[in-house]
Amino acid sequence: MTEHKKPMAEANRISSMLNAVLGKERFPVKVDELAVEYSRQCFPDSPIDKVEGADLEDFDGLLKAKKDRSKWLILYNSAVSSEGRKRFTIAHEFGHYILHRHQQTEFACGDDDIESGDSRDIESEADLFASTLLMPLDDFRRQVDGQKISFDLLGHCADRYGVSLTAAALRWTEIAEKRAILIASRDDHMLWAKSNLAAVKSGAYFPTRKNTIELPPEALAHSNNAWLSNQEQTTRAQVWFYREPQSMPITEMTRVAGQYDYTLTLLLMPDAEWQRPWHGDEESEEDTFDRFIRNGQFPSKK
Ligand SMILES: [Zn+2]
Repeated sequence: MTEHKKPMAEANRISSMLNAVLGKERFPVKVDELAVEYSRQCFPDSPIDKVEGADLEDFDGLLKAKKDRSKWLILYNSAVSSEGRKRFTIAHEFGHYILHRHQQTEFACGDDDIESGDSRDIESEADLFASTLLMPLDDFRRQVDGQKISFDLLGHCADRYGVSLTAAALRWTEIAEKRAILIASRDDHMLWAKSNLAAVKSGAYFPTRKNTIELPPEALAHSNNAWLSNQEQTTRAQVWFYREPQSMPITEMTRVAGQYDYTLTLLLMPDAEWQRPWHGDEESEEDTFDRFIRNGQFPSKK
C-alpha cells in the first residue's frame, strides 16, 4: 500500500499547481494554509486539519494522526522565533504527510532523533520536499541568472522565499555553475561544511562530521583577519585545498549569519581540470546534517 513517492516530483507537482493558480509572483509559500487546503482537496478522507504552534520543547515539529487516521495535525515549536525556520519545519512535516503518512501515524522531528538510524531516509526526503517546495529551482534561477553571486543577492532570495540565509545559500550551491562549498564556522573552527556535487567529485570537501577542522589562518572568517573589513577576496585554492593546482584561484565571501553567532563562508572555484574516480558515497556522511543546516541551525551541543 505504501507507494514510493519521490520528494522532488511531489513538491514540483504542487508548485505547478500553485503557479497555475497564483502566478509566478507567489512567494513566500504560505505553507501552513497550503498544507490544510491541499490535503483537504486531494485527500478528503484524511486531511491535515490544523497547523499550529505549540510548546514542543524537544522537537521542532510534529505530524500526528488521530487514532482512526481521519485527521492529521501539524505542530511547530512556538518558542522558535525565526519565521524562516518555522516555515521550513512546517514544509518538512507537510513532506512527511505527503510522502510517508502510510508508514507511521506520528513523526516527531528535532535534534533528538538525528542519530536514530531508521529515520534518516525519511528525514532527508522530507527536507528535500521542503526545500523544493519553498525554493523551486526554476524561480531561483530567475532570481540569480546573469548576476554576480553575493550574500546580498542570496539575502534577496532568502527574503523572497521566507527562509534563512543559510537555507538560500545551500539551495544556490545546487545550481551553481562552478564548484561551491558553504562553510559555517565559529571560533575559527568549522561547525559544518557542504560541498556541491562538482566540488565533492573533485575532492573539495571537508569531512566535518568525523573531524574537527580549523579554518586556514588566511581565511576571511578566521579571527586573525578580524581587522579586515573585506567580505570577499580571491586567493589561491591551495589555501583551502592543498591538492588543487598552484594556479587554481578560489573566491571567498563571508557573512555573519543573522541571529546566530556563526559565520558563513562561501567558496567558489572554477571546474577541476581532472576528476578523480568517484564512488558516490563520499557525501553521505553529511546527509544527517542537512535538515539542521537547511533550517539554519545546527545540532545542539547538549
Ligand atoms: Zn521529520
